[in-house]
Amino acid sequence: MKPVPTNPLDDDQGLGGVHIKYLRHCPRQLWLDSRGYRPEGRSDLVAFGEVVNETTFARRRDVDLGEARIDWVTAGAVIHETKSSRAPSPAHDAQVRHYCLLLERRGVNVRGGIVHYPLIRRTTDVPWNEESRDQAEAAEDEARTVIASTTPPDRQTRAACRGCSYLDYCWGT
Ligand code: SF4
Repeated sequence: MKPVPTNPLDDDQGLGGVHIKYLRHCPRQLWLDSRGYRPEGRSDLVAFGEVVNETTFARRRDVDLGEARIDWVTAGAVIHETKSSRAPSPAHDAQVRHYCLLLERRGVNVRGGIVHYPLIRRTTDVPWNEESRDQAEAAEDEARTVIASTTPPDRQTRAACRGCSYLDYCWGT
């Protein structure tokens, strides 16, 4: 394993949606990101995602919450998140639930969310109710526990790591 930078998030720093997405994808990924580790190639993936986002929905506006940036919100309020991925993932739903929680804490009457996958022309509905609020709050607690840990969580199985941008770091491939 290569050495990691020692720069964890401050305790009082808010958790963004990306932190929750990483947590649900792999707790180790969240831990590495919280230490400031950025794998090579990530910028290309991020840039690709931004291009998909910008070219798919040209007329929407980001909602900047400071710790999180929501793709856009429509009347209701319904939160929209666009993914360049071709595979819908529970991690994306968790990210949207986190946005619902953040908006609700700001006094917004949130109705739910939609994850858009323009490359496969699909959407996933993310309901917002008591159960999803519990899930979002539990995810926050879990994320803070992972970030506060002094050692990284174990790796996933090699098969589960396929396609992860941290592959080189975790497996030295
Ligand atoms: S390579 Fe595997 S263990 Fe490492 S962060 Fe990615 S999914 Fe997690």
